[in-house]
This record gives sequence, structure tokens and C-alpha cells, in this order.
Amino acid sequence: MNNTAEVLVVGGGVMGCAAAYHLAKLGTAVTLIEQFRIGHTMGSSHGPTRIIRLAYDGLDYVHLARESFHQWSDLQLESGTQLILKTGGLDLGSREAMYMDGILRTFDAAHVPYEILNQSEIAHRYPQFRLPEDVVGIYQADWSMLSADQCVATLASQAVVHGAKIIENEPVVKLHTSSTGVEVITRSNKYSAKKVVMAAGSWSAGILAQIGIELPLTVLKEQVSFFEARDPAQFQPVTLPLVIHHFPGTTSVGSVFPIHNHTGVKLMLDRVTPGVDPNNEDRTIDQARVDQLRNYAAKLLPGLTGRIIESVSCRYAMTPDEDFIIDAAGENGNVVVASPCSSHGFKFGVVIGAILAELVTNGATRYPIQRFRLDRPGLKGGTWQNKGAIPVFI
Ligand SMILES: Cc1cc2nc3c(=O)[nH]c(=O)nc-3n(C[C@H](O)[C@H](O)[C@H](O)COP(=O)(O)OP(=O)(O)OC[C@H]3O[C@@H](n4cnc5c(N)ncnc54)[C@H](O)[C@@H]3O)c2cc1C
Repeated sequence: MNNTAEVLVVGGGVMGCAAAYHLAKLGTAVTLIEQFRIGHTMGSSHGPTRIIRLAYDGLDYVHLARESFHQWSDLQLESGTQLILKTGGLDLGSREAMYMDGILRTFDAAHVPYEILNQSEIAHRYPQFRLPEDVVGIYQADWSMLSADQCVATLASQAVVHGAKIIENEPVVKLHTSSTGVEVITRSNKYSAKKVVMAAGSWSAGILAQIGIELPLTVLKEQVSFFEARDPAQFQPVTLPLVIHHFPGTTSVGSVFPIHNHTGVKLMLDRVTPGVDPNNEDRTIDQARVDQLRNYAAKLLPGLTGRIIESVSCRYAMTPDEDFIIDAAGENGNVVVASPCSSHGFKFGVVIGAILAELVTNGATRYPIQRFRLDRPGLKGGTWQNKGAIPVFI
């Protein structure tokens, strides 16, 4: 088997598949190597849905999010697969809650249309919610759901359509770089190329440390649950908005997804547990977290029966400042590092793939990635810490 390519991509999550897709579209001979099968459930990219939104505290993120909306729609058109569904969405929280003011400032600067709703206006429009008096909602109409599993599968299949090679069930164990190229050694083979894209998600730090690249990542074992609704018609994409619920003094958030690609209403409270060892294969469901989430759901959405249809484990790879890492490193920039997670990377996947392809082929990109540099101060101050615990909601 010819194990030589122009570019190797390590990792078949949304970022690796997007990189292979864009590189193949540029006519680059690219081989993607994945330790499991594409679509597995051990990493960060699996499940029925992910949120895509413009609601960010930063113009560069809004720019990338706008571009992501376009490119997911382009991929949907190219593949004929439904990938994105508009629902509208709300950032909920008291005015003191994290990010609320930052989102408003950015919306004004980016001319993003929005509405500010108080508790009774929210209750009027969305009677499904029971909210405290002081809650404020920032409603923005473009919030949409990405069909996560389909997005990853479509990026992978379209990458192959454009000429990429995808190798599954072959874990990379070693990485060598030199001024002339890279060598990637798996449990059963050796591959060589001019450059490598490292998109290994929560496993990235271990592999990159072999070649002296330090990634200060904290891996969190996250969990979502799908709840039964008494009247499912009230929890459909046309009746229930996507929600991110912010709390004062912490970056932990609650999130609510209407019924889509599943029979249940998806809820999540994130960043409530300490970091885990990236090589720990434990994906068992934490019952204490299920009870905490059921408690939260019962108070927020009394129309849910409390019966949980399914709970799923998933991973975050957190940087200290919760911004992504996208940069070229190694000799002659022949190692392109992609650790764009920190709980909010999926929506940008298709554009981050384009950025990685440009960094590989041109050594630079037209997109704003200054904030994601490896040598930024925000990565120097130790690892991610959860700023405060989740308060008792109501
Ligand atoms: C529960 C949950 C909800 C989320 N909600 C949202 C949301 O609503 N909106 C949003 O934008 N983002 C969201 N995110 C974040 C988003 O899903 C991630 O940022 C994104 O999926 C990261 O993709 P990735 O490709 O970097 O990682 P992964 O999908 O983990 O891909 C890394 C791949 O590398 C492979 N790999 C690792 N080591 C090796 C090796 N040695 N050899 C070969 N292959 C290897 C792994 O098997 C894996 O397939 C959420 C994340 C979670 C967990």
C-alpha cells in the first residue's frame, strides 16, 4: 500500500473531516487517519444536534459564524443532505450573567438584528418556560441546529468524492517531523507526507508533546440527556427556540434543544465536573449529573415528564481562555494544529477546515485567526478552571 501523501490529517471528527474535505477540493493528495470509525461516539463530534449562532462576545467570532452559516448551506446543497435547520434562539440569564453585555455590544457592532425580551414577554411567546422575574432574553432569529452526525458523515463522504483517502480503526502512536516532512506511525503502518494536520480533539496534547508542542488542554467528560415531553408538539423546532442559559459568576451554561433527529428534548448543564485523563475510556453516565439535570429541567420546562429517554457522554477539550488553537507549528510550519473545541467549536467546523487547508497550502489564511495563535498569552497562565459552581437555578 502506498502510504505517501502530500498531507496527512490525524483525526476524523468534524475538524479533521472538514480539513480533508477542503484539501481534497483544492486537489491536494490527502489521507485522513482515524483511530476509531468515522461517526464513533468516543470524542466530541457525535450526536443528533449542535447549535450554530451569531451570539458571541467578539466580532471575529461573528465573522466566522456568518461564514459558517454560508458554508454549511453550500455543503448541504453540494451533498443534497439536510444539515442545518433554523429555529431562532435565546440567550437567557440575569443581566449580571456572563457574556450578556458582551453579546449585545457585539451585535450592535456587527449590525446583527436582535430583540431583548423580559420575563413576561418570554412567557407570552414561549409559555413552555418557567423563568425567574429578573430573567432577560436576547432573541436572535438566525440560531439554527446542525445535524451533527450527518455533518461529519457528509464532510467525510464528500472528501472521498473529491479524492481524499480515509483510513479508519488505525490509531496514530508516533509522530516525527523534519525539515523535509512528517512521518506518522500507527499501530500497523507508517505514513509520510510534507505536512500533517493534527485534529485529534481531546487526545491532541499527548501526541503533540512528542514533538515538543505543548497544548494546555483540560478534557471534560460532558453529558446530555433527552427528555420525554408531555405534548411533543410544544417542543418542536417551530415552537421551541434553542436556548443557552447563562448564570452569574460561572462559564457553565444550561442549554435546551427542540426535538430534532431524536424523540426527546435535549438538555445539558456543562462544565460541572473536573478534568479527566484524555486516555480514560470511561464513558459511563454519571447518575448524580442526571439527577441535577432532571431537577433543572423540571423547574425550567414543566411540560417535560421527567422521564429520560437517553443520556449520552461526550467530551470537551478546554483551553484556559476558552478560545480555539489554530496555528502552524513544527519545522517550516509542517504541523498544523487544530484544537478548536472549548465546548463551542462544531458550528465553525466547515470553515475551520477551510482555514486548515489554507494554512497547509499557502502558509496563511484569509480568515481572522489572530485570537487562536499557539503563542498567545491566554495559553500561558496554567490550565482551564471552572469559574464558580452552577447556582441553584430557581
Ligand atoms: C455535549 C456537547 C455539546 C456541544 N454542543 C456544541 C454546540 O451546540 N455548538 C458548537 O459549536 N459546539 C458544540 N460542542 C463542541 C463541539 O462538538 C466540538 O468543539 C467539536 O466536535 C470538536 O471537534 P474535533 O474534530 O476537534 O474533535 P473530535 O470530534 O473529538 O475529533 C477528534 C478525532 O481524533 C481522533 N483521534 C484522536 N487521537 C487519535 C490517534 N492517536 N490516532 C487517530 N485518530 C485519533 C478521535 O478518535 C476523534 O475522532 C459540543 C460538544 C459536546 C461534547
